[in-house]
Amino acid sequence: MNQQHVHCLINNCHYWANGNKCEANEILVTPDTFAANQQDSIDATMAKQLTPASAESCMSTCCKTFVQKNSDKINADHINKMF
Ligand code: SF4
Repeated sequence: MNQQHVHCLINNCHYWANGNKCEANEILVTPDTFAANQQDSIDATMAKQLTPASAESCMSTCCKTFVQKNSDKINADHINKMF
């Protein structure tokens, strides 16, 4: 069975781990404009309900699942750390 691995360089994210690994059990990548206008609670657990959109380049996409380490918003998106 294939297993997806997400690699990430954002080391102040709650889900980031040594080796530049993302330890979120799921993530949501969105256009920057979408993420800027949504509450923290809108995230990967709601992905099936969200409308897909296009992006001009990688620079106009972002990880909606990002949350700063030690933030009081860590549980707002209902995403879990795998380890
Ligand atoms: S949730 Fe997003 S920003 Fe945070 S470590 Fe994973 S991929 Fe990176």
